[in-house]
Amino acid sequence: MRVAFLGLGIMGRPMAANLVKAGHEVAAWNRSPGKDVAGARMAASPADAASGAEVVWMCVSDTKAVEQVLFGPQGVEESLSEGMVVVDSSTISPSATRKFAERVKARGAQYVDAPVTGSKSGAENGTLIFIAGGDEAVIERIQPLFQSMGKQVFRMGETSKGHAAKLVMNLQIALIYEGFAEALTLATKLGVTAETLLPLIQASMVRSGVVDYKAPFVLKRDFSPNFPLRLMLKDIRLALEAAKEVRVKLPGLETVEEIYELATEEGQQDLDYAATLTLLEKWAGVEVKGASAS
Ligand code: NAP
Repeated sequence: MRVAFLGLGIMGRPMAANLVKAGHEVAAWNRSPGKDVAGARMAASPADAASGAEVVWMCVSDTKAVEQVLFGPQGVEESLSEGMVVVDSSTISPSATRKFAERVKARGAQYVDAPVTGSKSGAENGTLIFIAGGDEAVIERIQPLFQSMGKQVFRMGETSKGHAAKLVMNLQIALIYEGFAEALTLATKLGVTAETLLPLIQASMVRSGVVDYKAPFVLKRDFSPNFPLRLMLKDIRLALEAAKEVRVKLPGLETVEEIYELATEEGQQDLDYAATLTLLEKWAGVEVKGASAS
């Protein structure tokens, strides 16, 4: 298929590369120069990339970035055509998505929100899980593209429901990781090492994919960004905003938001969100280590 791929960050670049690898004709664009995708045509603007494309795929930071890519100067809107499908794999606001979709659909194009879960490794290995919202037939039509970048597609309902479901997924990841980080901190302070505790966690009902994925990084104290803290904070805020719109209270997430704000004040925004552990360690006066308690 002829695909325009917009946004070549941690996730977008390997996703676009996997489309090329699968034999699709890709025109790629990134706001800042210097990021390219081997085998893709590098476009000068979103409108240039989208020109002649059957599908326009976005993976940019936040709601404002999606709005700019779609409707800003030389945005996708200038090249929209009847039957074109616009897909958004960023994680953004469900209510803003409904407005964006309305404007795109008014031009005869289709809109699918398809945020992802699977992190950097899932994007690189083509094993992402897509959480889709939109017309069933349209989602079916772009299956070859989903298959080139991921392993599964879950349809949550109409447009914006993908983003809604993605926010509740990240809400859980943030809370589960916070629980794990608090457990490691207290265990260390009480003299139980992380390495001793981990097999117990993994053998018990406490086990989770979040712990499986994050534990090796934590034990190596590798807080380089797989999922930057600033993006998890964005998602926490999106979930709290969405909750407010429907009058739902999320006290646990509100507390986690405060921890991420403090981590940001400490300059950790570009580290992985796993770095929030270091705040707990600082408050407790310990460092979680693989082999020994402090
Ligand atoms: P990233 O590495 O920070 O990349 C962000 C991309 O968005 C870059 O290409 C950036 O362009 C572009 N961008 C930012 N503001 C823009 C604007 N105003 N106009 C046009 N482009 C703009 O982020 P990422 O990790 O790839 O994440 C992308 C999206 O996927 C986010 O919504 C994130 O929440 C979601 N996500 C990430 C992960 C993960 O593990 N990383 C997992 C699931 C979902 P520049 O290069 O010019 O800055």
